[in-house]
Amino acid sequence: MNDQPSSRPPLPAVDRVLAADAARVAEERFGRTATVASVRARLEEARAAWRAGAAADISADRLAQVALAALEASETPSQRRVLNLTGTVLHTNLGRALLAEEAIAAVTMAMRSPTALEFDVATGRRGERDDHVRGLLRELTGAEDAVAVNNNAAAVLLTLNALAEGREAVVSRGELIEIGGAFRMPAIMARAGCVLREVGTTNRTHLADYEDAIVPATGLLMKVHPSNYRIEGFTKEVTARELAPLARARGLPLMDDLGSGVLVDLAAYGLQPERTVRQAVADGADVVTFSGDKLLGGPQAGLAVGRADLIRRLAKNPLKRALRLDKLRLAALEATLKLYRDPDRLAERLPTLMLLTRPAARLKEQAARLKPAFEAAVGPDVAVEVAELHSQIGSGALPLASIPSAGLTLAPLGARRSGSALLELAAAFRALAAPVIGRIADERLIFDLRGMDDAAALEAGLAELARARAEAAA
Ligand SMILES: *Cc1c(COP(=O)(O)O)cnc(C)c1O
Repeated sequence: MNDQPSSRPPLPAVDRVLAADAARVAEERFGRTATVASVRARLEEARAAWRAGAAADISADRLAQVALAALEASETPSQRRVLNLTGTVLHTNLGRALLAEEAIAAVTMAMRSPTALEFDVATGRRGERDDHVRGLLRELTGAEDAVAVNNNAAAVLLTLNALAEGREAVVSRGELIEIGGAFRMPAIMARAGCVLREVGTTNRTHLADYEDAIVPATGLLMKVHPSNYRIEGFTKEVTARELAPLARARGLPLMDDLGSGVLVDLAAYGLQPERTVRQAVADGADVVTFSGDKLLGGPQAGLAVGRADLIRRLAKNPLKRALRLDKLRLAALEATLKLYRDPDRLAERLPTLMLLTRPAARLKEQAARLKPAFEAAVGPDVAVEVAELHSQIGSGALPLASIPSAGLTLAPLGARRSGSALLELAAAFRALAAPVIGRIADERLIFDLRGMDDAAALEAGLAELARARAEAAA
């Protein structure tokens, strides 16, 4: 057929395809322009396939159906909802914290209506956008003042630039961290216009190291939470509390980058305790920076709280304008922070805390209940087991703390016992309408239930897989 390249494929005309039922459905749903474009694209594909000698159904009905399917596929949001069964609750690649209903309602309102974003309703005068969270942050951290920016990387950049541009920032070698996604403390310092002054060694830094490093060009002393690793063994760290008197005596600001914004005593919720922002402020840090969407459980944001005169300098810095929050995230942040006024009900209302505090025994029961549905989904060639697991908080929060958890492990059997079978299995779960994301370890596909926020969606996905298997077998 295709040894005559000049011959024309017997394709229907565009108008004939557009007259087919599926094309009319497509036009109704996606509009004339998109439908015509999709039909033309399908005709082009069919022409190429015909030239390559591939036999295919090129009837007008078939081409219209394919055009409709392509339009439907392109409608699926690129940023799709997924089920996080990875075992990492605050997964940066999966969007970190889920917002509380109160925050969702506040964002919805702010999307629909004009808001008092920079407007003081009482006086009719201009207000400041950070006023919506400033009072709350002062109340919850004990700090004198606060600013909110795009994320914690931005809060660190802004603090360094506002307080130490053209000067030296003194940091322990053991705290020159890389958070991932190209957030390296030395690079941020360079962008902020500061000169990095490393002190101590990787494992040991003493107060005298900081003292000796202070020169007329010193701009600030900095502490950084080593969020995603820990140095163990022969170590010595100077705490912010020990460093504060030195900073005060030399008239230098002490900055403490906490990373995860913990506003409550996590031990009260059965989790491993972590230094709170309030403690960092009480320890004498002049500016404390932290994220909004790590343990705080709010939208992506960076918060800097601390001494009023220093926070004013941050607020007046031109970078603040470039890094500021929009009204949606400010609305979500305000609503999230308000939940902290009632710590007794926080674990019910703040999804991050709710997920982290679910008892492992309950997750194990849930795993046992789901086991038959998983078995039906994957068939007899895959062993499904209920397993006790260990979840991580994620996003650099409490790197070594693992939370007892439970879930299911899937292991292909017999002839299917190969690495590729495991990858195919993981891909099948990712191909679901609500993709289920697990992790592969020890030759098993592991689904940890700790991060699972919607059991009905998971069950629907399992049923979808079981149906597909039944159809393939028939
Ligand atoms: C996570 C983290 C950051 C970066 O925060 P983002 O909100 O992701 O920008 C900075 N410093 C520390 C110590 C962190 O843990």
